[in-house]
Amino acid sequence: MLFRNIIGQEHIKKRLIETVKNNRTGHAWLFFGPEGSGKLQLAIAVARYISCLNRGETDSCDTCSSCVKYKKFIHPDLHFSFPVNKTKNKDAVICDEFLKEWREFLTLRPYGGLAEWYESIGLDNKQGFISTEESRRITYKLSLKAYESDYKTAIFWQADRMHDQGGNRLLKLIEEPPPDTFIFLVSEKPGQILPTLRSRCMNLKIPGIEDSVMQDVLTDKHGLDKQKAAEIARIASGNYRKAIRLMQEPEEYQYFLNKFRDLMRSCYRNKIPDIIKITDELASLNRERQKTFLEYGLGLIREGLAMHYDQPELVYLSEEEHDFIANFAPFITGDNVVQFKEELTKAACDIERNANGKYVLLDMALTFAELLKQERKY
Ligand SMILES: [Zn+2]
Repeated sequence: MLFRNIIGQEHIKKRLIETVKNNRTGHAWLFFGPEGSGKLQLAIAVARYISCLNRGETDSCDTCSSCVKYKKFIHPDLHFSFPVNKTKNKDAVICDEFLKEWREFLTLRPYGGLAEWYESIGLDNKQGFISTEESRRITYKLSLKAYESDYKTAIFWQADRMHDQGGNRLLKLIEEPPPDTFIFLVSEKPGQILPTLRSRCMNLKIPGIEDSVMQDVLTDKHGLDKQKAAEIARIASGNYRKAIRLMQEPEEYQYFLNKFRDLMRSCYRNKIPDIIKITDELASLNRERQKTFLEYGLGLIREGLAMHYDQPELVYLSEEEHDFIANFAPFITGDNVVQFKEELTKAACDIERNANGKYVLLDMALTFAELLKQERKY
């Protein structure tokens, strides 16, 4: 990954490049921010720039022996840790067992998120994690001499999924780092990383991609017309992965919209059998899709509130979503919006923690029915 191939984030790239050029690169970094913003790509680009044998003013050379190996993610001094779990074909929770899939994932879906990663290794309903054994292995690798480069780099993707014991091991390593070693933690949930570990790292917030930048990429690289690009950029709100999915799988979002609309209508009418039917169907999706559905719902509620308070500049919706939310907005108020959001967030957390989606979603829906009943009274 070269800096110039990363979408937007110009001031961050500039800052990172200057840091390397001035030899001020700290040995441990935490890149945090929303999904689809390019955090992992930036970490790989910095590591590559540090290791490049013919570093340019603003990017790696792309042709030296280090760059050639970085390009394929096979440089022997570049190590990755990422969440895995046992699958049908693999009985271990060690990242080395998944390297082939990981390199394909980085190549084919560089902005891919956890859901796509899990899908690509066939995890279905299981959650991945970075095991203590994995942390032990990677700290061992970093304690060895570099093979080819003058530097060794370890990148922990979704570092918040590291077990605490592994985190403590890594903390020790960061406190007494082996020479010429760089560690990058990449996370969407930095609050779930051990605070001691977090505070030992240089923290760098990577924001979502700006709408105008996203729009340009969608027209220039993907050939969308301006209006469609603007619409997708708005819904994707800074997440390139989401923008790609909106382009490639509009039916997925259509499905979520249909289900959310049906669910809210049934809740409004307090039709319990319909509510059960819909939540059962949603619970039959894999966990990642259930969570994506809930995130999607959260987005719609947010837009509904903006519409309720007549702040059209905050409303980022497709035409059909707009029609639904226009009908629904009167029922989303400053009084109940917090509860709607809390219920959706709580359900997503419960599903993440392996609770039974059937009960979680039904509970949530019954609370929605209750909230909407109160609105009907007025
Ligand atoms: Zn190079």
